[in-house]
Amino acid sequence: MEKKRDIILDILKKDKNNLYHLYEKSITNIGKDTYFLVKKVKNGSKGSYNKSWFTENRSSCAELKLLGVYFENKKSDSLSFFEPEIQYLKTADNGKIKSLSLFPANSKNLSGLKKIFPHLCPSALKNSPSFGFGDRLGIATPGHIRAINMHKGLLPVFAQQSIRELTRTRRNYRDVIDSAAWGIFQEGYSGKWGADADHLKDKNNLLNAIKSGCTMFTIDTSDYLNEKAFDGSESLNSNKNQSTGNNQSLSFKSIGKTNNIKSLLGRYSGKKIKIRNYILKYDEDTIAALFFVYGKALDFVCEIYNFIKQNTPAFDFEVSFDETKTVTSFEAHYFIVNELQLRNLGFTSLALRFPGEFFKGVDYVGDIKDFRRSIETHGEIANKAGNYKLSLHSGSDKFSIYPDFYKHSFGNFHIKTAGTSWLIALHVIAECNPELFREIYNIAIDSFEINKKDYHLILKLSELPQSTSGSKDAELGSLLHDNRIRQCLHISYGAVLDKLANEVYEVLGRNEEKHYQFVSDYLNRHLDLLQ
Ligand SMILES: [Zn+2]
Repeated sequence: MEKKRDIILDILKKDKNNLYHLYEKSITNIGKDTYFLVKKVKNGSKGSYNKSWFTENRSSCAELKLLGVYFENKKSDSLSFFEPEIQYLKTADNGKIKSLSLFPANSKNLSGLKKIFPHLCPSALKNSPSFGFGDRLGIATPGHIRAINMHKGLLPVFAQQSIRELTRTRRNYRDVIDSAAWGIFQEGYSGKWGADADHLKDKNNLLNAIKSGCTMFTIDTSDYLNEKAFDGSESLNSNKNQSTGNNQSLSFKSIGKTNNIKSLLGRYSGKKIKIRNYILKYDEDTIAALFFVYGKALDFVCEIYNFIKQNTPAFDFEVSFDETKTVTSFEAHYFIVNELQLRNLGFTSLALRFPGEFFKGVDYVGDIKDFRRSIETHGEIANKAGNYKLSLHSGSDKFSIYPDFYKHSFGNFHIKTAGTSWLIALHVIAECNPELFREIYNIAIDSFEINKKDYHLILKLSELPQSTSGSKDAELGSLLHDNRIRQCLHISYGAVLDKLANEVYEVLGRNEEKHYQFVSDYLNRHLDLLQ
């Protein structure tokens, strides 16, 4: 490979107007041809970074990166997959013509590249333990790869984005998957990987996710949960009376198409199941509460599952109950799984609501013993009830609970992180361009109240330093160790990118290796706890 590298570098020098950086790990030989990725680091005419490249496609540095094909003598047929050729360079060596062509690293050319390298397409990961690396900026995948490469037992989900994140970053599923695929090509990763349409709540977005090639679908049930039923005011008897009243949403007829309360009573009434030291008990009130809380949500899950099944050959399906106030009881866990299995729904993972608080970007808040007690029994239920993974959301920085989660899920888990890669990017900016970091901080403070609306955090604006003026340039990075500041910056990405996307991408582009190193180091701290 080294020889090819030298040949390619040699030919690239023939371009007197531009300077290139070759991503050596991307160099791959297929048949007679060699494929690779380069970045234009200096544009000859301007003698410096051309900023407009970033403006063109702010969500990835694709415009700056180029797909290269090296070939000897005859042009390969595969070159017809790519267009437009923006550079052709050649050299003659003992009668042999050595050439290379460069093409934009865009979505269209990626489609061509996938025909040659099928591993650039995501796939279903099924029962393998897995880890989700949300990448809001779309440039962190090489860092994620370096982290996962050191943990061979885990499969990565490199593309993972919720609608909330897509909206705020003005990206779409296709772009998220493409960015991950280019990162994979750049880094020479050849393993399996997944693409998660996270927290889906409706069919429109689902259809988009399917068309864009997502391989994992996380169904958010929160709009269909009736949590009020758990406060005791809606017991079986009071609901029997309401079924003919105005409150139609709670009537027996309108909840649960495929199930009714009678069949549930028949199925669960008086049932006792021993799980470790705990006995799941189903009396009439418990069954009624489960029916009223989860009935509609289960119908929704089934409808979505069947829809995906008709449209996608192989996929991972996650059912999520995490974004709710009510901690998932053991009875509810078993009930949900049992009902889904009765409906032949082959889900891959299940996200429960665990006790404690899962704020973004900071460690677990709560009593670790409570979490341990919870995961011990939930893990045992999952182990007994079926072949699915327990999924932990908002998993970034939850260092204190990883060991218990790993142990008691029997290594059968999925974990999602997202905002942490954004915070790492900000750390790089704090060190490489303090002035830009200060600007970002100001935006985060100014937009805090708006950003906060969509996120679960109890932080108040008054608890935050209102500016960075109290910190010297060299101290800015350490602000990211402050949990209050972490949370504030964590939710600021939309507002920051609206104003400073070019600047953010430029600093990270210039300091690419440092960025990858920071990402990989920080995520390794997570992954190291999962073994
Ligand atoms: Zn979640």
